[in-house]
Amino acid sequence: MSETKSTCPYCGVGCGVIIEHDATRITGVRGDPAHPANCGRLCTKGGTLHLTMTPQALAQRLAYPTLHGQHVSWDAALDHAADTFAKTIAEHGPDSVAFYLSGQLLTEDYYVFNKLGKGLIGTNNVDTNSRLCMSSAVAGYKATLGADAPPCSYEDIDHTDCLLIAGSNTAWAHPVLFRRIEDARKARAEMKLIVVDPRRTDTAEAADLHLAILPGTDIALYHAMLHVLLWEDLIDIDYIAAHTEGFAELKAIVRDYTPAMAADICGVKADDIITAARWFGQSPTALSLYCQGLNQSSHGTDNNAAIIHLHLATGKIGKPGCGPLSLTGQPNAMGGREVGGLANLISAHRDMANPEHRAEVAKLWGVADVPSQPGLTAVELFEAVGRGEIKALWIVCTNPAQSLPDLTNVHAALAQCPFVVVQEVSAQTDTTAFADLLLPAAGWGEKDGTVTNSERCISRSRAAVPPPGEARADWQIAVDFARRLEARLTAARPEPVDGSGQSLFPYESVEAIFNEHRISTVGRDLDIGGLSYSLLESTGPQQWPFPAGASAGTLRLYGDGMFPTVSGKAKFKAVQHRPTAEVTDARMPLHLNSGRLRDQWHGMSRTGIVPRLFAHAPEPLLEMHPRDMERRGIKDGDLVTLKGKRGALHVRAAASATLRPAQTFMPMHWGGQFMNSRGVNTLTPAATDPVSRQPELKHAAVQVEKFAIGWQLVAMCRDDVGTLHGALQTWLARFDYATLTLSGRENNVVILRAWGGADTPLPAPEMLAELTTAMSLDGPQALAFNDTKRGIVKRALIEGDRLAGALLCNETRATEWLTDLITRGGSAQELRKWIFAPLAAPPSSGPARGRIICNCFDVSEAEIKADIAAGMNLPALQEKRQCGTSCGSCLPELRRMLATSTP
Ligand code: SF4
Repeated sequence: MSETKSTCPYCGVGCGVIIEHDATRITGVRGDPAHPANCGRLCTKGGTLHLTMTPQALAQRLAYPTLHGQHVSWDAALDHAADTFAKTIAEHGPDSVAFYLSGQLLTEDYYVFNKLGKGLIGTNNVDTNSRLCMSSAVAGYKATLGADAPPCSYEDIDHTDCLLIAGSNTAWAHPVLFRRIEDARKARAEMKLIVVDPRRTDTAEAADLHLAILPGTDIALYHAMLHVLLWEDLIDIDYIAAHTEGFAELKAIVRDYTPAMAADICGVKADDIITAARWFGQSPTALSLYCQGLNQSSHGTDNNAAIIHLHLATGKIGKPGCGPLSLTGQPNAMGGREVGGLANLISAHRDMANPEHRAEVAKLWGVADVPSQPGLTAVELFEAVGRGEIKALWIVCTNPAQSLPDLTNVHAALAQCPFVVVQEVSAQTDTTAFADLLLPAAGWGEKDGTVTNSERCISRSRAAVPPPGEARADWQIAVDFARRLEARLTAARPEPVDGSGQSLFPYESVEAIFNEHRISTVGRDLDIGGLSYSLLESTGPQQWPFPAGASAGTLRLYGDGMFPTVSGKAKFKAVQHRPTAEVTDARMPLHLNSGRLRDQWHGMSRTGIVPRLFAHAPEPLLEMHPRDMERRGIKDGDLVTLKGKRGALHVRAAASATLRPAQTFMPMHWGGQFMNSRGVNTLTPAATDPVSRQPELKHAAVQVEKFAIGWQLVAMCRDDVGTLHGALQTWLARFDYATLTLSGRENNVVILRAWGGADTPLPAPEMLAELTTAMSLDGPQALAFNDTKRGIVKRALIEGDRLAGALLCNETRATEWLTDLITRGGSAQELRKWIFAPLAAPPSSGPARGRIICNCFDVSEAEIKADIAAGMNLPALQEKRQCGTSCGSCLPELRRMLATSTP
């Protein structure tokens, strides 16, 4: 067995991992104690990475290039792509093609695609799913501090006296960072935690002060806090005078934002705003952490500016425990920004509108010029695809058919695009269905390069095993395609591209790409001229800037009060509160918020192949305030129709204590692979921030109505090979509502749950027979019971004495019992008696376990509730069940359960 150090490919915390493997197969993963981001910790997602590399998981990987569904060689695939792109460019110009990349890519992958689009082809149509994640943070930093550079480090959490978390459920979305926050609070009891979030999340639950603002009212809140800071003389006049400009204009605006006025807009108490401002202003140090709640807004840039203003006005920036730190959602959103991998950026934080900057990049690349007009950003890009303006589209390791807003239009656009290439790890996502050409990419544990996390820390990501089949590293695919396209474009031009006849893409290794990127940064704010693969090898991860001659990376920026602006001063931006793009009205009276769950990741193409990661939340639920449910006659678990201005979908509803009245929440993870709709983005608007062009994914106006259920169907089966989920995906569309879930710890079990409306006929016997066959529940050992009078159908497949699969129609009370039998084992003896008694209640196997709270030790909600009812506190619970003693991701929820239990 061997070990290889790498990084976690999920969130922007950027945890270091140690991969255990035998050079052919990854068998385990643990946190890297030497990595500064996590010091050995991992969360539930990172800690189960090896389970994304089991034989069953690998069976769901894309292994060979396919053209229109036919397996082709790499040469045939890339020649076809190069021919099509060259022809399209020749006939319609460079801006008729586009690349849509991913924050999952490594920096070197990003670098090649950026050079390919902007250097070789001459189009800035190179955008990325990071546009949906942090482009408002980029624009906010640039508008105020002058550069896209988070000034702080995670270490500042240990030093701060006041931590302001805004629009981030850190406890679930960045769990390892939240562990650090918990440790810091334990070490420094005087530290204040303020959380700004419309929902009372586990992060908010832990706060000293929770400001549950109404969606989209962030600017009013931060302006009012600044108003209080001014009124109570808590600003740093000297710092403002010496290091900033524009304060007078902003001061004139915030004069109107009294706490009473903001309280009205934000829906919180004026006293709470005053308290938040006092804590921020009176604490010697203050740090803010923020994420999608601020960014995914039609005024996300101004939201970011408004929170940064608090730091500039108090001088709480550039010193330990101080500053604004945006958290990146994706593992390498930061690396993509560094190489200019967005449609309005060019390499190394250079400005696309600046002719000198463009000339520097063109010279480095050996091309005549770099186009000056910004390319199409994510939402604009797919709108242009829909208008027929983009005729060849290359999508790399992302799933826009699920993650973009207003999905009906996105699907229509993709369906009519003349040529779509999808470079992917997964064989099946909502986007792969639109691909003319599918290219298999190497994934985590199979590829080399670097990533940069939220605190500017560059780490090596390393290959431990070869990729499956013919899959190749993303940079290799990009280089191979680029050389072929270069040959075709050069042949069509009178002069070679760089005048020398040498390829623009001479790279024989990933390190060669890093070295070119490194040169591009020299003299820039993110200068890594002193960094190399060998240095990263010998000293470990390093924070940029790391210029030549430096002996260590840079922990903190702007300590000298100098900012990368023309005047050297930071800028206050005179912004005003604006409402959300879509407002509620009598027909659409509810606010729909969307976001992440603890154990799932993005569109579930990676976490959705690990059964145990469904245990905390097995299905998508629309969370609602109990009063809104009562008014509509909706009970917990009822099926509802969720309607918006762009469409509707069915989903089950759940009462939530985390929401205010008129607020609803639906997770972003479920799409067409796991439910019979495109998911929450069917309803989100395509409205974007005018500067960052980040869409307002956090808010839509909706209505909810109860959907009367006539019958239910459940079918479950062990899936030892790993292909059943993919095979059953087409079944989702055959029901009024349906979901697919995985279950089990040792076994993979696939569960299809379906519902029919009161007016929908029961599934025909032929359909049930087809489903039985599709799930292999019809062998000689299968037990079958049909009660045609009552429409009840039961099937059970028993292998040895173990249940291997079951199907129930119109009598599904036994679902929980059967799920337990199939996933946890146990004798199927009682099942034989039960199955032939049509209305018999299922035998009791004890109280239902419910959701699994602690994934590491498989501890359920029911078990924890019983222990709490018996008087146990957290240490006693942990001693008995070990819950929360490994990755700690469940600790906030355990504490909440203890705090809310009735004594
Ligand atoms: Fe991965 Fe979890 Fe660390 Fe994020 S916090 S990088 S998901 S282990």
